[in-house]
Amino acid sequence: MTIKGRVFSGARPTGRQHLGNYLGAIKNYVALQDDYDCIYCIVDIHALTTVETTEDLKENIYEMALDWLAAGIRPEDSIVFIQSHVPYVMEMHTLLSMVTPLGKLTELPTFKEKIKQNPNNVNYGLVGYPVLMTADIVLYKADTVPVGVDQAPHLEFAREIVRSFNYRYGTKVLIEPKVKHTEVLKVLGIDGKKKMSKSLDNHIELAATPEETDKRVMQMLTDPQRVRREDPGDPDVCNVFSMHKIFSPKDEIEMINTECRRAGIGCVDCKKRFSANLNKHLEPFRAKRAEIEKSPDSVWDILRDGAKRANAIAKDVIEETRAAIGLPE
Ligand code: SF4
Repeated sequence: MTIKGRVFSGARPTGRQHLGNYLGAIKNYVALQDDYDCIYCIVDIHALTTVETTEDLKENIYEMALDWLAAGIRPEDSIVFIQSHVPYVMEMHTLLSMVTPLGKLTELPTFKEKIKQNPNNVNYGLVGYPVLMTADIVLYKADTVPVGVDQAPHLEFAREIVRSFNYRYGTKVLIEPKVKHTEVLKVLGIDGKKKMSKSLDNHIELAATPEETDKRVMQMLTDPQRVRREDPGDPDVCNVFSMHKIFSPKDEIEMINTECRRAGIGCVDCKKRFSANLNKHLEPFRAKRAEIEKSPDSVWDILRDGAKRANAIAKDVIEETRAAIGLPE
C-alpha cells in the first residue's frame, strides 16, 4: 500500500464561486482527492486583513463551502474546514514569526501591491500574511501545495521559513512543502479584459440559473474588430471562443473556428451555443447544490466535523513544535 501525500490549500471566503474560481482552483481540488489526502481550508482570518466589514462573512463561508461540496469535494475523504476553527494556527503563526526576517516580508511584491490597494489600511496582518500562510501548511504536515506558476514564489518563501525554523531549533519537526504545479487557467471576465472577479462584476456564477447565465454570456466581449455580422472574426482573440474550447464539444469548436473566420456564424449564435454547453456542463453541479441547500445545517456540520479532524492533527504538531523549541510542558 502506498502512503498518500497530504495536500493543503486555502481560499478566502468569497461567497458564491464563479467560473474563474472553478477553473483556477476548485477543479484541481476535486481531482487531487484521487491521489492525496486533501485538506481544504476557508481562510477567514486571512480575509480580515482586507475586509471592511464582517457582515457577510458567515454567508460567504456558507456559499463557498456549498459550491465546493456541489462541485465534488468529498468530505468523507477530504478535510474541509474554517481556518478560525483551529486556533492552533495563531500559535504556529507566532512561533514562525520569530524566525522570519521582517525586511524580507516588507519587500515581497504582494505586500507592496496590497499597500497600493489599501493605502488607508496597512495593518500588521498584511505584513504577516505569508507567515500565517506557512503556519496553515505546516500545522497539518502537508507536504504538497497546489499552486499556479505565478504563486510559486510564495511557496518558496514558506519553504525558507520552514528551513529557518528547523535550523534554528536543530529539528526536522516541520515539513518543507513541495509545490505541485497545477494547470491554472487564466479566465477573463465577460469584459474580455480583466481576470474574472466578483469585485469587478465581470463574473459568471456557477450557481446562476440558466437564464442568468444566458444573460451574462450575451454581454461577453467578442473579437473587438468584428463590428457587423458580415465581418469575418478572429477566434484567437475572442474570449467566447476561449470558453468554447473548455466547455464545448470538439466538433463544435472546430466548426466555430472555421465559420467565424469566414463570417459563417454570427456572434449571437456563437454565444447561444456556448451558453447552452455551459449550462449543460453545470447541470449536475446545480442539481447537487440544490439538494444540499435543502439542509443548510449539513454544510455547517461538515465544516465543524472538518475542524475536529484538523484540530486533532494540529494539536500533535503544535506539541511537537513546542517540544522542539524547548518550551516548558
Ligand atoms: Fe467570437 Fe464566436 Fe463571434 Fe467568432 S463568432 S468573434 S468566436 S463570438
